[in-house]
Amino acid sequence: MSGLQTIWPPGTECVARYNFAGTTEQDLPLCKGDVLTIIGVTKDPNWYKAKNSVGQEGTIPANYVQKREGVKSGGKLSLMPWFHGKITRDQAERLLYPPETGLFLVRESTNYPGDYTLCVSCDGKVEHYRIIYLNGKLSIDEEEYFENLMQLVEHYTKDADGLCTRLIKPKLMEGTVAAQDEFSKSGWAISRKELKLIQSIGKGEFGDVMVGDYRGTKVAVKCIKHDATANAFIAEASVMTRLRHNNLVQLLGVVMEETGSLFIVTEYMAKGSLVDYLRSRGRSVIGGDCLLKFSLDVCEAMEYLEDNNFVHRDLAARNVLVSEDNIAKVSDFGLTKEASSTQDTAKLPVKWTSPEALREKKFSTKSDVWSYGILLWEIYSFGRVPYPRIPLKDVVPRVEKGYKMDAPDGCPPAVYEIMKLCWTLDPVARPSFRVLREKMEHIRTSELHL
Ligand code: AMP
Repeated sequence: MSGLQTIWPPGTECVARYNFAGTTEQDLPLCKGDVLTIIGVTKDPNWYKAKNSVGQEGTIPANYVQKREGVKSGGKLSLMPWFHGKITRDQAERLLYPPETGLFLVRESTNYPGDYTLCVSCDGKVEHYRIIYLNGKLSIDEEEYFENLMQLVEHYTKDADGLCTRLIKPKLMEGTVAAQDEFSKSGWAISRKELKLIQSIGKGEFGDVMVGDYRGTKVAVKCIKHDATANAFIAEASVMTRLRHNNLVQLLGVVMEETGSLFIVTEYMAKGSLVDYLRSRGRSVIGGDCLLKFSLDVCEAMEYLEDNNFVHRDLAARNVLVSEDNIAKVSDFGLTKEASSTQDTAKLPVKWTSPEALREKKFSTKSDVWSYGILLWEIYSFGRVPYPRIPLKDVVPRVEKGYKMDAPDGCPPAVYEIMKLCWTLDPVARPSFRVLREKMEHIRTSELHL
């Protein structure tokens, strides 16, 4: 054993790599994929005391588990790290030097724009195969057709099928790392076999949301079916591996298929989105305590993101979900960031976005604070659409001149004061989430919300 073996401190999360039946009464049996928390060391450095997700405790062998960590993105995470974009034939040949049979990359074709070229090293030479793009499908031999590059590479990795060799080793693009490897190294890869998709529960912008079963637990699964979109979501899914808070919808793991599909598995939020929850139940069912509790739940999540220098960019009641036990949790953090940065300003959720973010794309924690003010207004109006009766095109010019929405009916004045603070035009003068949380707590304890 290496003398440098690090000892995992209590609280370390790990995932079982193998099944372990246990040999003594004290042992905690493990099933591959179980998530465990270390609770202490034993006299033997190869064994730990640990607790599983249902609270059972016992000793476990250290080499049967893998530490679960945030996915580090030292390089750009990619599902297609062998894709080099627009490089020339000569550049491809230099990249595949020294020769190694089966070393390959894919580039965009220079001669046939829109097509690709598969470059493979074989017996000291580089072969270039044209991949034609026809009617939305890709093919090398015009016999076998593929939906996307990942499926094509997957096929020729299994079998040469007419090429000089099967594809053996990807030549990674400089600065990229294979997302599949990074997620499994960090303990976040889920096997597709363990995930059952049961039924669709919603439609997101990029794919279906399904309710599923993962090892006996009800889960929500975001299914992103297109390889290019999946690639854009990877970096953000890696952010989710680094964040953990009771008021953030928790990531459970990801499935990355060779076919380019991506499944993002999160905890299941039985009561759906906050905006639907408020609209469907309304004033007669939901009391002031409950509204304040939702507001505080979201504020605590946002304070945590603020402390971790993470900007949400799309905070709104539609992106907050409610659990079975009525806890509000912020969702889509990390997933929306990439999406909105590529969106043109016309597509931004104008009514929720701060003036400086709309004007100069300056997103910051302070622009999230602005959105939080709008979210508070949504909560206290039981899910109404903000700026009622103002045509969308007039919202920004009026807001820029200092217009602020009125307090929703029945909204406690102390809560309305907080909304107005969030809508301070100068982002520097807007309060932080920490200050907001303190103010909200003060409202709760002094019963100013009644
Ligand atoms: P989204 O793509 O995040 O906007 O999700 C679309 C819809 O799917 C939401 O409005 C919810 O109704 C549902 N949904 C998303 N995530 C979950 C989850 N973790 N638990 C339950 N329902 C969810």
